[in-house]
Amino acid sequence: MNLIEVINLKKEYKLSNDTIAAVDDVSFKIDAGDLVTIMGPSGSGKSTLLTMLGALTHPTAGSVIIDSIDVYSLNSDQLAALRREYIGFVFQSFQLVTYLTVFENVMLPLILKDIPLKEKNFIVMETLKKVKLQDKHNRLVEQLSGGEQQRVAIARAIVNNPMIILADEPTGNLDSHTGYEILEIFMQLNDEGKNIVIVTHNNEYKNFSDYTLLFKDGKLCDKIINNSTVRNNFLGKTELLKDN
Ligand code: ADP
Ligand code: MG
Repeated sequence: MNLIEVINLKKEYKLSNDTIAAVDDVSFKIDAGDLVTIMGPSGSGKSTLLTMLGALTHPTAGSVIIDSIDVYSLNSDQLAALRREYIGFVFQSFQLVTYLTVFENVMLPLILKDIPLKEKNFIVMETLKKVKLQDKHNRLVEQLSGGEQQRVAIARAIVNNPMIILADEPTGNLDSHTGYEILEIFMQLNDEGKNIVIVTHNNEYKNFSDYTLLFKDGKLCDKIINNSTVRNNFLGKTELLKDN
């Protein structure tokens, strides 16, 4: 089943006396359960594309269809509701509230939800277990390492149980070992059925995805199917997620 369909998608930015097509007439489909990497040189339109997939940026032309919903035909309230229900976003720079605790950061997306506080507390702790941070739930975020902060950001992105996780260079600020730990969490979430789209600069990381969409100058120029043996070997490179 096509979970995400991108049709003739285009985003132009008008500069003082010029217009640039950051994303230029791009079409592709993502099936339910796919783990996709997006690669391409700096300025090739990866971040712009990801924010359009995440219902954050209106395209200049074309459509994004998510679960049969034509995203940019929605009004702003409906768009916000779609984002809450379907999308979890992870950024390179974590974008956490550093003076709040780990627990409080992950609670943020649940604040407006109409469920009992006791249930919210339970959901937050269960989500923190998935990223192995339950023991640090009372720590201030500013006291954590970069890798731990990114795990908090992933927990915050998945606490609403979205079908789709979008990550823009989530390992860009991390050393390579910590980067692998983060990717292993994404693989585990994919094994649980989440659809994951990750923008990455690191060529080494692409093999853990099912396929790579390659961008250049705003255009989709190749789809590379990755080798599943390599993907399986990727698992177990880190010790983080192994139960002792
Ligand atoms: P990438 O993530 O691949 O580095 P981006 O999507 O950030 O690429 O940018 C694609 C192109 O669009 C670049 O030329 C960039 O300068 C331009 N661009 C991105 N955002 C804006 C903006 N808000 N205003 C004007 N130009 C932008
Ligand atoms: Mg970018």
